[in-house]
Amino acid sequence: MNLLIMGPPGAGKGTQAEVLVKELNITHISTGDMFRAAIKEGTEMGKKAKEYMDKGALVPDEVVIGMVKDRLSQPDCKEGFLLDGFPRTVEQAAALDATLQDMGIKLDGVINIEVPLEKLMARLTGRRVCKGCGASYHVIFNPPKEEGKCNTCGGELYQRSDDNEESVGTRLNAYLEKTKPLIDYYEAKGILKNINGDQEISKVLADILAAVK
Ligand code: ADP
Ligand code: AMP
Repeated sequence: MNLLIMGPPGAGKGTQAEVLVKELNITHISTGDMFRAAIKEGTEMGKKAKEYMDKGALVPDEVVIGMVKDRLSQPDCKEGFLLDGFPRTVEQAAALDATLQDMGIKLDGVINIEVPLEKLMARLTGRRVCKGCGASYHVIFNPPKEEGKCNTCGGELYQRSDDNEESVGTRLNAYLEKTKPLIDYYEAKGILKNINGDQEISKVLADILAAVK
């Protein structure tokens, strides 16, 4: 199954993706995670991406598109994948269509997680992420069993450098201007599944599974 998960920053894409890929036995492709890994490794691409990410701006399309094309061609994507955080612009969506067509595959569904915008700032500024496995927690809404420690791998939790009020504001604007139009793009293709993301994490998951199965 080839899926895409979209929604504003803080909608719960990463939280849901972590469980969904295990349930559906598909590969998780998060462009944000890929950039953070490149920054950690100190690659040229990572250095370039960091300039944009710290401000909350989108990384230029040509950088992201090339990276995703390479990733999709790897063997672990053959059994299916969940794209998370890509596409974020109409240009990226068109490039994805062309790539999938070349590969002779198609998207089976686009999960669009809906959350009232006024709730996103609190979700993002309270987010904590595992240094080891990338799992997402929240200091109030989804705290780990032991403070500062990942439930799954025991890794240390940290706060992303772009989860501050200023960057979040810029990211929300980028979403509204550049990414939100993709809702109509995928609605027109008849593969959009709108999911209420403003409910318990387990309920959101159940709704997604019911929509894609
Ligand atoms: P995204 O990947 O869409 O940016 P995350 O999955 O990292 O978002 O979630 C953002 C923050 O909101 C995290 O701190 C997460 O724990 C929290 N969160 C996720 N889903 C819910 C939910 N249904 N209710 C409340 N908080 C949530
Ligand atoms: P995320 O982890 O999805 O919240 O992404 C973190 C940051 O990485 C974004 O604010 C962007 O700067 C960058 N990024 C991730 N995915 C993309 C994309 N598809 N296009 C452009 N920038 C991206």
